[in-house]
Amino acid sequence: MTIGSAAVVGDALFDVVNPATGRVWAQAPDCGRDLLDEAVAAAEGAWPGWRADPEARGAALTAGAAAVREAADDLAPVLTGEQGKPLREARAEVLHAAARLEHAAGLRAEPVVITDTPEETVEVRRRPLGPVAAIAPWNFPVQLAAAKIAPALAAGNTVVLKPSPYTPLSTLLLGRVLARALPPGVLNVVSGRDPLGAWLAAHPGIRKVNFTGSVATGKHVAASAAADLKRLTLELGGNDAAIVLPDADVETVADRLFWSAFANCGQICMAVKRVYAPAERYEEVVEALAVRAARTVVAAGTDPAAQLGPVANRPQFGRVAELVSDALAHGARAAAGGRALDRAGYFFAPTVLAGVSDGVRIVDEEQFGPALPVIAYADVDEAVDRANHTRYGLCGSVWGTDLDRAEAVAERLECGTVWINRHLQMSFDEPFAGTKWSGLGVSGGPWGVHSHTEPFVLHRPRT
Ligand code: NAD
Repeated sequence: MTIGSAAVVGDALFDVVNPATGRVWAQAPDCGRDLLDEAVAAAEGAWPGWRADPEARGAALTAGAAAVREAADDLAPVLTGEQGKPLREARAEVLHAAARLEHAAGLRAEPVVITDTPEETVEVRRRPLGPVAAIAPWNFPVQLAAAKIAPALAAGNTVVLKPSPYTPLSTLLLGRVLARALPPGVLNVVSGRDPLGAWLAAHPGIRKVNFTGSVATGKHVAASAAADLKRLTLELGGNDAAIVLPDADVETVADRLFWSAFANCGQICMAVKRVYAPAERYEEVVEALAVRAARTVVAAGTDPAAQLGPVANRPQFGRVAELVSDALAHGARAAAGGRALDRAGYFFAPTVLAGVSDGVRIVDEEQFGPALPVIAYADVDEAVDRANHTRYGLCGSVWGTDLDRAEAVAERLECGTVWINRHLQMSFDEPFAGTKWSGLGVSGGPWGVHSHTEPFVLHRPRT
């Protein structure tokens, strides 16, 4: 663990499995309550110094970004080893994290003057909150760690970061790399098996919890935060719908649509998780996706030919297999894939399911894996209703040639981000927020900094 600027390894360790082999390949420190207390105390101790000087913060974040970029060749193999993704994607993830830190270096919670008269000025300023708990999942451990620590640190908070127990190593290494640039105690990384996450979220020294993970765990985090009125950002699951309109040029958009569902083995909160296709074009859409699924190279992330690696861990692999079996048992047809690959590790054939509809688990639930249901619809109003008929509301997309028509449909989707003829694209400057059960609070750009601060209002008379 990296507590303050020191690497701390307690006595207890836990196993980390390589999903490409299904075997243990490393161990990580299993943080207990005492070490967690130390980490939170380090974050509390570092806060007054860190919050005091925005320019020094910006410089440290810029230096941190450079250190991460330089360490990309060390970080990427660790990420591939514990998460499974192809090495070049692991490297891209590290570089993305560096870019996020660099971007945050320039972010400030600027004051806003709301009254400026001969008698007085009234100004809204923003203050950081204190030590922030950042809790991350296993699909993009490095990228999501950076997405949490960057706005928190830029706003003047300190951080205790906890990675998923499936992917602790790349985050621990990230912490060590950043410790070269950040003052002691500003960023502390703790790894461990749960209930470490619950202890951290409930810790009295923590003033805000920024959590990314499943809806079920997010609700636990919200309940424990309520007891102490901790501030909260929740980035939770999604079941994004892609609506293909009758005038879509399927062959032109098929590559983009396919990778919007299958990138990172479908393990992306805002991946396309269900496709609605017009009945008269249904077979064409299924076929275009199935052809691409069949020719995708699935291999260990260390294999340069790999386009997709294994599913990231055994429980997730089991869940994908279960949802696909359930769909097949309910009359679905595997237009591609439909089964695990017959080899060691957690490899699953990219799967396109036809003849499936709402009411089947893989349509109604978040599969978070390389299996995509395609659902036929009779008219666009029905497709919009079905897309919105869910507790989730993260993102969505509309695919068509007439952009005005596509926009009119996009406006009706109940979610935080909607794309036309694309999915998954997001800049550092835009607000990212899920509606309904997909989240609480807003991340990204100035919104991310605001959500790590609180306003206070200063009334100042002229004389
Ligand atoms: P998860 O909820 O099982 O775990 C997420 C993190 O929470 C892990 O670090 C875990 O150790 C920790 N945790 C477990 N119990 C806890 C508790 N009681 N209190 C505090 N922390 C606890 O999720 P996962 O399986 O790691 O990740 C997959 C999920 O994450 C999917 O649902 C996916 O959609 C979602 N996700 C959302 C976003 C987003 O930005 N909206 C991004 C990536 C992933």
